[in-house]
Amino acid sequence: MKEELQLLRQQAFINGEWTDALKGKQFSVRNPATGEIIAQVADLGITETKQAIAFAGQALVTWRATTAHERSAILKRWFKLIMLYQMPLAQLLSQEQGKPLNESLGEIAYGASFIEWFAEEGKRTYGETIPSPAPHRRLVTIKQPVGVVAAITPWNFPCAMITRKVGPALAAGCTLVLKPAAETPLTALALAVLAQEAGLPAGVLNIITSTDATGVGATLTASDTVRKLSFTGSTRVGKLLMAQSAETVKKLSLELGGNAPLIVFNDADLDSAVEGALAAKFRNSGQTCVCANRILVQDGIYDAFAERFSAAVAALKVGPATDHESQQGPLISSAACRKVEEHIADALRQGASLLTGGKPHALGGQFWQPTVLINVTSTMRIAHEETFGPVAPLFRFHDEQEAIEMANDSESGLAAYFWTQNIQRAWRVAEALESGMVGINEGLISNEVVPFGGIKQSGLGREGSRYGIEDYLEVKYLCFGGI
Ligand code: ADP
Repeated sequence: MKEELQLLRQQAFINGEWTDALKGKQFSVRNPATGEIIAQVADLGITETKQAIAFAGQALVTWRATTAHERSAILKRWFKLIMLYQMPLAQLLSQEQGKPLNESLGEIAYGASFIEWFAEEGKRTYGETIPSPAPHRRLVTIKQPVGVVAAITPWNFPCAMITRKVGPALAAGCTLVLKPAAETPLTALALAVLAQEAGLPAGVLNIITSTDATGVGATLTASDTVRKLSFTGSTRVGKLLMAQSAETVKKLSLELGGNAPLIVFNDADLDSAVEGALAAKFRNSGQTCVCANRILVQDGIYDAFAERFSAAVAALKVGPATDHESQQGPLISSAACRKVEEHIADALRQGASLLTGGKPHALGGQFWQPTVLINVTSTMRIAHEETFGPVAPLFRFHDEQEAIEMANDSESGLAAYFWTQNIQRAWRVAEALESGMVGINEGLISNEVVPFGGIKQSGLGREGSRYGIEDYLEVKYLCFGGI
């Protein structure tokens, strides 16, 4: 390597140039553990977004004409650079997002894995030949990039939510305009530094940093040049963007909210269930869309599970990412803390009890005590809304049918988890759960080789796996006549 690359960038990235806002506007990025301002980032608007779309449109002409092998070589170099810079990237990620350093290191590796995976999958976007019903015709399909893609990403995984959109889009031959969350733009910009170093041509990946999410979102969705929108975030904003995209009939990939059930049957291995529930609930301090939001425990094992689980939760070490022993970071904002507080208060008012936690953490600021609630019921807010925080509510059920009904009593259908040692039950329940992903005796189920995505109001499309690239390709049918 020549010299250390400067990863901390505070300008947007358009057409391969580091760019200020036209009017010089900036916004502050804060460390959620301390409240400290760590960067002043260019605050772009509608005009710059239109420019970025135009550059992405120009770059598409040459990028889509490169071979999958050429694109793969650039993506592999990018992957290697991300892993080479894993530690400084993780430190930056922890600073702007708050998660413990180990989790950030894991996220960088997880994020990078999508780039490597799609560098390979891009070479396998096969078409097919179709037996013709007419003797003088030959019928084939080819796959082509959809075109310019708009990507809008959230703050909870500032690296991985980007790479699992950008990886397949670039591999397929698409160009992008990306708007990362205003809470966490720094990891996105650092990734762009490395993409440029890997040889990604100007205009192929453009990054709009902005606090005007509404204006930028409306500009991206109104554009005829943008042929696809890939969004990860709240169900509310996803629905809005879906409605806005109707005007130009865009292809859509939406990864929206979840309300994941985690079911523990009487015949579960208790140690495994406690460990899995801890991982599924408390990763990123409960701020992931696949976090277990409702823990359903069968009568016969309820008390034993509650006791062991709450002891494990109480032992979680809360602290800033600078303390390498920390297992739980701060929440992203004071609004996030308020939601946690409201969900707990509502549950307690309606008859739930606390086994551990329940209050702001002694560290102050946006730190919250890891919390376990028992005797939670379906009338409580926590049963129907995603808490997105470190609160584990334990519901009680009597039999398998009731557990399935409770689990499916949600508009969301992203992830679900359950613990049982009975193989017949494992199949029955896995098939009956209304969700896109199911963990059976396992609480951490995401990686780059499997399809991540939801059903019902949790979204459209799949990310990762061999399906992930299809969302960025159009199938074209060719009919050769007169043969
Ligand atoms: P969260 O509650 O996790 O912040 P949001 O859906 O609000 O989820 O945010 C996810 C992403 O969507 C962020 O990049 C945010 O800036 C963006 N966003 C929020 N509102 C809009 C909007 N009206 N149009 C387009 N993007 C939006």
